[in-house]
Amino acid sequence: MDPARPHHSPEQSPASLHLPRPTRRAMLRGGAGLALAMGASAASLLTSGPTAHAQPRGGRRPRGVDYPKAEWIPADASNYTAADRPSEYPVEFVVIHVTQETYKDTVAIFQNPAKDVSSHYLVRSADGHVAQLVREKDVAWHAGNWDYNTRSIGIEHEGWIDEPDKWFTDEMYAASAALTANICDDHAIPKDREHIIGHNEVPGADHTDPGPHWDWDRYIKLVKSS
Ligand SMILES: [Zn+2]
Repeated sequence: MDPARPHHSPEQSPASLHLPRPTRRAMLRGGAGLALAMGASAASLLTSGPTAHAQPRGGRRPRGVDYPKAEWIPADASNYTAADRPSEYPVEFVVIHVTQETYKDTVAIFQNPAKDVSSHYLVRSADGHVAQLVREKDVAWHAGNWDYNTRSIGIEHEGWIDEPDKWFTDEMYAASAALTANICDDHAIPKDREHIIGHNEVPGADHTDPGPHWDWDRYIKLVKSS
């Protein structure tokens, strides 16, 4: 519709939060480097400037959020693409991520205009607190695949994929499942593994999150019963 709208190929998609399989420190350096490397081309294509936020989904949500229990902590407007979903793009998937960062550092990354990365939601490990950083109508840059970014909601979970006992808490699973159930209900997304996918399952993704220790059976059961 908008001639200024970017048409990224997957290769041109803005970076997602974390890179494949590196250590934490390497990931921080590599993520920043990739974001910087991709930032110039992405930024030159993307519409910039402040985002005009429409009313929340259905006009009934408090504090500008789409999910009533979420805290609104907006990402920098240069880290996502303002859009008008679902009329502009259908919303068909929920993409599950693990941050490989702390909650606090993830918020800082999404609010840093140099990073070119964001997700709609971030769930805190210790207590399941949910932050919303990008409106669901907008396209967050989380999947590393422009087509999937346009058609999905991204949820980041605080923690590291190789430390599930430390980070994948009951509180985080429950809070995330309730969030995903709400998203599925509002967008008529089936509550199954065809539509609730890991970042590692995005076509072309070279990311491994949420990793082999993410308990999908438990998660989908929780989503269905939320
Ligand atoms: Zn991811």
